[in-house]
Amino acid sequence: MTRPVPPRGAPLTDARSGAITNAMTVDVEDYFQVSAFDDVVSRSEWDRMESRVERNTRRLLDLFDEFGVKATFFVLAWVGERHPALVGEIDRRGHEVASHGYGHRLVYEQTPEAFRDDVRRARCILQDASGQAVVGYRAPSYSITARSLWALDVLVEEGYEYDSSMFPIRHDRYGVPDAPRHRHVRHTPAGPLVELPPATVRTFGINLPAAGGGYFRLLPYGWTHRALTRLNDHERQPAVFYVHPWEVDPDQPRLAARGFSRFRHYRNLHLTEPRLRSLLGSFRFAPAQRLLRRSTTTGSGESAVPLFIG
Ligand SMILES: [Zn+2]
Repeated sequence: MTRPVPPRGAPLTDARSGAITNAMTVDVEDYFQVSAFDDVVSRSEWDRMESRVERNTRRLLDLFDEFGVKATFFVLAWVGERHPALVGEIDRRGHEVASHGYGHRLVYEQTPEAFRDDVRRARCILQDASGQAVVGYRAPSYSITARSLWALDVLVEEGYEYDSSMFPIRHDRYGVPDAPRHRHVRHTPAGPLVELPPATVRTFGINLPAAGGGYFRLLPYGWTHRALTRLNDHERQPAVFYVHPWEVDPDQPRLAARGFSRFRHYRNLHLTEPRLRSLLGSFRFAPAQRLLRRSTTTGSGESAVPLFIG
């Protein structure tokens, strides 16, 4: 038996200040499981690698406690299967448990059948470990793109209610540059699915990423701060922000990756935590499932009706 997803955290729009609540999300995976290292560490080696994901995830849990922030943890179920107590702890400490799939394979490199097995298995493992109904999904490396849109139908059929896998930017591995930038509902033959795209800002007709991850470490902190201010104050939209546990672990073992992947993974790891502190102290955050509610500025300030925009 799983519990339904309870509303958690503060209302989406603060009744007094009008400040908007953003989504804080964590993709729970270990440092050797990132897609950029697929050719450096094979899946058959994962079990032999030093695991640092528990300690690093707890570091984020402690940080969120410090700021009174609840978040969504998109847990890779391969990790959840080996560390069920960690998934239980995420639930106990008041956060949302969501799915990052099981095997961290790019969606557009899978068949629809293999993808269905992956997301079904992941949901079972994470629901068992957390006791929560798992309704959110984020693909490895945002790999729901124009050539894997069929995945959205599968997600609805498998019981997911929202997805956060379509990044409306151009990137070497992912991106749907012309997708809507803000949360919206996708209508699939199996029913509606809310899409929560990672944060972007639109400048000179192009969408630029401002959602966390490598962009948070490689660009100056002010870039993300200004982008979230613009989204919240001018566009009146919530931002979806993401971080990985390995990004708060500057001492992680260095793998033999080369070139830009190495740069992108290891650069400025020591800056993630202090920058997160600035961000958590400056903006309002809640779990991603809070964004399934429509925000209004009248009456009680919020409606529980699912949003159907664009
Ligand atoms: Zn991932």
